[in-house]
Amino acid sequence: MERKIRVAVVGASGRMGREVVKTVLTEPDFELAAGIDRSSEGIDLGRLVGLEECGVQIQNDLELALVESKADVMVDFTTPHTVVFNTSLAIRHGVRPVIGTTGFTPQDIEMLDKQCRDKEIGGLIAPNFSIGAILMMRFAAQAAKYFPHLEIIEYHGDQKLDAPSGTAVKTAEMISEIREEIRQGNQQEEETIEGSRGGYYNGFRIHSVRLPGIFAQQEVIMAAHGQSLKIRHDSYDRAAYMPGVAIGIRKVMTYTGLVYGFEHFID
Ligand code: NAP
Repeated sequence: MERKIRVAVVGASGRMGREVVKTVLTEPDFELAAGIDRSSEGIDLGRLVGLEECGVQIQNDLELALVESKADVMVDFTTPHTVVFNTSLAIRHGVRPVIGTTGFTPQDIEMLDKQCRDKEIGGLIAPNFSIGAILMMRFAAQAAKYFPHLEIIEYHGDQKLDAPSGTAVKTAEMISEIREEIRQGNQQEEETIEGSRGGYYNGFRIHSVRLPGIFAQQEVIMAAHGQSLKIRHDSYDRAAYMPGVAIGIRKVMTYTGLVYGFEHFID
């Protein structure tokens, strides 16, 4: 058998991080190299995720952990405040980033792509690792050619830090590659309550709903005279993202440069 891919997980004691740790510990071609988080230092990661003790404890110094563990890949599910720093640090140490945390600007992505190319390693930033969500984005982009009047509504839990979601931004970008720019709606419209019409993106609107109990959902509503089309995806559990994360970890070992969007890995 080929050498296992050594994976460091940042944000390891978070909700997504724990799911990633479980995946890394159970996939036969992965080896857990390190787990990093601000809290839970010293706790065995196997125990943390309800599996057998694995001998790898949570550390809180990312740089030290990356260097000492000789990780091949760093998976990051932390916060928009810290993820750019973490990604850049990993690349500097030759560790391939697989990033699920959202909140990157186009400038960040450009800068990190250059860093990856200089180091001759691969990297992946995927605002959504769920294959169903990728198909939703792709179908929405295809349909936008025929239904250019559209709005995006995304729903997440009330503790989410960024808005709109990375998935909504990615959907908007994919739609904009296909849909000619038109400004929708009445050009004289006035908001009597600020923000009522949502965020403006290339002529259409994005609405972010934040409520307790909601996991992750998005719909793209398109309409023309006499008809409407709704393309919707619902995620109910973090397990939905793990097949995508595993594919990302394997793929990132095989190319140079930063790929933005998991859709590039789906035919
Ligand atoms: P979470 O439960 O709050 O977990 C984040 C973890 O990261 C926490 O344990 C936090 O520690 C830790 N952390 C924060 N800053 C850190 C740092 N500088 N170094 C090390 N660890 C740090 O959040 P989550 O629900 O897992 O979501 C994490 C991110 O993933 C969010 O941006 C979310 O939008 C994104 N997400 C992406 C996808 C996708 O498919 N791409 C899917 C779901 C979620 P403390 O608790 O001590 O702050």
